[in-house]
Amino acid sequence: MVLRLVFLGPPGAGKGTIAQRLCEAHKLLQISTGELLREETGRGTELGNKVKAIMESGQYVEDEIVAELVENKLKELGEEKGFILDGFPRTIKQAGILEGILNKLGLKLNGAFDIEASDETIIERLSGRRSCGKCGKIYHLKNIPPKEEGKCDKCSSVLVQRNDDKPEVIKTRLETYREKTAPLVKYYEEKGLLKVIDANGKVNENIQNVETILGVIE
Ligand code: AMP
Repeated sequence: MVLRLVFLGPPGAGKGTIAQRLCEAHKLLQISTGELLREETGRGTELGNKVKAIMESGQYVEDEIVAELVENKLKELGEEKGFILDGFPRTIKQAGILEGILNKLGLKLNGAFDIEASDETIIERLSGRRSCGKCGKIYHLKNIPPKEEGKCDKCSSVLVQRNDDKPEVIKTRLETYREKTAPLVKYYEEKGLLKVIDANGKVNENIQNVETILGVIE
């Protein structure tokens, strides 16, 4: 079975880290809308300049903008290759748009994982998170340190802290998540696709928990 998954869950629960590892292990494409948007802001494109301030404030970019980025990626993908949508959809409207895109392409989701963690865990993870400025690989100062301090294991580029991982923005991001994205948990539950993961534990345990469920889907 080709895995086509959606990852929900508050910022800092570990979606990106788990998605990166699963995509490597199962040869899936990771489609992270946050990462795609950061590439645009990093390159200073017209789109990047338009969304920069919104992202830095911890609010959501317009549904149509992210949906277009996702549609372009899914179109390139072909039918045989699976994917993890990491951070999309984030609103009920985006979920509807996604259904439309997948229908057009003749594809179906086979799971929506809600990666959950307590506020305490989230704050600890976000404040210690660093990522590679070039390839996007995610680290944590304490929990997932790089082999050489401040440098990416994969491409040796400098590790950076995201602008929106600062304490004052984290609060807004959590509020935005609870208001706009948490309702999607029920949405996917009603579709029979929801799997909830308690991601408060160690990264490897969390990944193992997801793998166990994937074993049943496959
Ligand atoms: P992330 O890397 O997933 O934490 O996303 C970082 C930021 O990018 C979010 O706080 C939003 O401003 C924006 N973003 C990412 N994905 C979406 C989405 N699906 N809908 C709206 N905004 C998004």
